[in-house]
Amino acid sequence: MSKVAHYLQEHLLGEVLTSADVRRYFSTDTSVLTLAPAMVVYPRNEADVRKTARFAWQLAERGRIIPITARGAGTDQGGAALGAGIMMAFPAHMNRLLEFDDKTGTVIVEPGVNYGKVQQTLKTHGRFLPPFPASFEYSTIGGAVANNASGEKSFKYGSTRDYIKGLRVVLANGEVIETRRLTKKELSKKLGLTSFEGEMYRALDALLEEGADQIAAMDPDVTKNSAGYCLSQVRQKDGSFDLTPLFVGSQGTLGIVTEVMLATEPFNPNAALLMAQFDSVAQAQLAVLELRNLSDMPSAIEMVDDQLLGLVDKLNPNQLKDMVTKPFPKVLMFIEFDNPERAQKKILKKAQKTLERFTTSTQLVTDIAEQERYWSVRHSSAIVVAHGEGNVKAVPIIEDGVVPPEQFAAYLEGVYKIFSRNHLQAAVWGHAGDANLHMQPFLDLSQIGDRQTAFRVIDDYYNLVMSLGGSTSGEHGDGRLRAPYLPKLYGPEIYDIFQKVKRIFDPYNILNPGVKIDVTLDSVKRMLRSHYTIEHLSDNLPRS
Ligand SMILES: Cc1cc2nc3c(=O)[nH]c(=O)nc-3n(C[C@H](O)[C@H](O)[C@H](O)COP(=O)(O)OP(=O)(O)OC[C@H]3O[C@@H](n4cnc5c(N)ncnc54)[C@H](O)[C@@H]3O)c2cc1C
Repeated sequence: MSKVAHYLQEHLLGEVLTSADVRRYFSTDTSVLTLAPAMVVYPRNEADVRKTARFAWQLAERGRIIPITARGAGTDQGGAALGAGIMMAFPAHMNRLLEFDDKTGTVIVEPGVNYGKVQQTLKTHGRFLPPFPASFEYSTIGGAVANNASGEKSFKYGSTRDYIKGLRVVLANGEVIETRRLTKKELSKKLGLTSFEGEMYRALDALLEEGADQIAAMDPDVTKNSAGYCLSQVRQKDGSFDLTPLFVGSQGTLGIVTEVMLATEPFNPNAALLMAQFDSVAQAQLAVLELRNLSDMPSAIEMVDDQLLGLVDKLNPNQLKDMVTKPFPKVLMFIEFDNPERAQKKILKKAQKTLERFTTSTQLVTDIAEQERYWSVRHSSAIVVAHGEGNVKAVPIIEDGVVPPEQFAAYLEGVYKIFSRNHLQAAVWGHAGDANLHMQPFLDLSQIGDRQTAFRVIDDYYNLVMSLGGSTSGEHGDGRLRAPYLPKLYGPEIYDIFQKVKRIFDPYNILNPGVKIDVTLDSVKRMLRSHYTIEHLSDNLPRS
C-alpha cells in the first residue's frame, strides 16, 4: 500500500483499497476507454470526502497532484467515471434516501443511492423523478446529477438540472458548501467571505459579468444539452445567483456532491400510448413537429428505426410478436400521454388526428400490460447493446448527439450515410421528440482497422451534429470522448471561459482531470480498450 493510501486509511472511516483486482474493476466504466486508478476509497460520510479532498489539496500545494474521481455506478459512456488517482466510490456507503417531504414532494438523498430504489419509493407516494435515464435500475442519483442525465420523459419534463433544488458539495480544498438560488443580498454576503468559497464566488461573479454577452448567446438551439458547463443559468436578470446549475452536468470536475435535494412530480400510472408507423424519416419529422405544437405535451415521443427492428427480429423474434410485422416501418414511434383521464381523452383525439396525416398506421394502447409489451420494443435496443459476436460489439462512441427538432430527418439521414460509408451496421433509437438519438456501431476494437474506423466515425458524427446546429451530448455528458469537440461546439471565447471556471474551482487540477476540459483526441486514443465489455452491468439487461 502506498504512503498516500496508508495515510488515508488511517484517517478515514471508510475503506481504502489498492489491490490489483479492485483497481482492475474500476479501470473501466461503460465507455470504450480504460484507465486504472491508483486506489479506491469508499467514503462512509461527508467527513471522509472532505478529508480526502483536503489531503489531496495539501499534497498539490507541495507540488504533488493526486486526482480524485467521484464515481457512482460507473455506467458512464464517455469515460467520465475513470481516473488515474483516487477513485471515490459512493454506492458502497453513501447510498441512503435521507428525507422525503410528502407535502412538497421534495426528496433528499446521498449521491450513491440507486436511482431505481429512489424511484420505487417515490412511486409508493404517488410521485416520481421524471428525468430518469434508461440506466436507472443500476445507476446512481449522484451520477445523474453529475451528467445532467435525462431520458424518455424529458420531452415533457426536462432534464435532471430542472429538478435539483440544492446540493451539498465538497470543494477542491475540502471546504463544504450548500448551493441554492441566492438573492442579490445573499450573494453580497458570499462575495464578502474570506474562505475559498468567497474567493470562488468573487472570481466567478466577475467572470460571468465580463462574459455576459457571449454567455447569453452560448446555448445551442436544442431542447436538452449536457455538453460543457451550464453558465447561462447561474446569474439571472433579477441579480439572483445559483451555483447548482453549474455543478449539475460538471461530471465531478468542479466539486464532489455529497447530498442532493430534488423536486419530484405527481405520477400518473394510467398513461395512454399511441403507436405510430412511418414509411419515411421525413414524415416522422413532420409528425414530431406537429406533436410538439399540441396544447398538452406528450410525456414521451420515442422511436426505433427499421434497422433496430430487423436486428431484434433476428436475435429475439418473440420480442416483436403481434406488435410490428414485416416489412418493418422506417420509423416506429411511441407517443405517450400521462395527463389526468379527462384531459387525456381530448388530447388523444387531437393527437390521433394529427398523426393520421403522416402515418401508415396508428394504434391506441390503453391497457397497461399491453403498453408494457409495446414499450419493451423500444427498450429492445438493450438486446443490441448487450449483443456481441466474439470481439465484435456494439460500442458507445457516437451515442448521444442532439439537434434542433427541425433537423431530425437530416440528422438521421446523415447518420445512415456515415454508417454506409464505413460499411457498418446501423440501428437507431431514442428520443424523437427531442431529436436526441442513440446508436452504437458494431466494431471489433482488437482490430487496428476497426480502431481507426471508430475515430473516423466519431469525427464524422460529431461534425454532422454540429453542422446541424446541435450539441454533441443531449444527456450522457462530455466525459473524455466528446470533450475534444467542446472548443468547436462553443467557440474559442466560451471555451476560454470554461477553462477559467475550471481553474477557479480547481486551481490544482485535482478534480477528475482529463474530463471535459483540456482534452485532446490523441490523449483519448491512447486509452481505447482493445476488448469492449459491459460486464459490470450483466446483473441486468441494460436498457438504453
Ligand atoms: C445502457 C446504458 C443506457 C444509458 N442510458 C442513459 C440515458 O437514458 N440517459 C442518460 O442521461 N444517461 C444514460 N446512460 C449513461 C449513464 O448511465 C447515466 O448518465 C447515469 O446517470 C450515470 O450514473 P452512474 O451512477 O453510473 O455515474 P458514473 O458513471 O459513476 O459517473 C458519471 C459521472 O458522474 C460523476 N459523479 C458520480 N458521482 C459523483 C459525485 N458524488 N460528485 C460529483 N461527481 C460525481 C463521475 O465522476 C462521472 O463524471 C446510459 C448508460 C448505459 C450503459
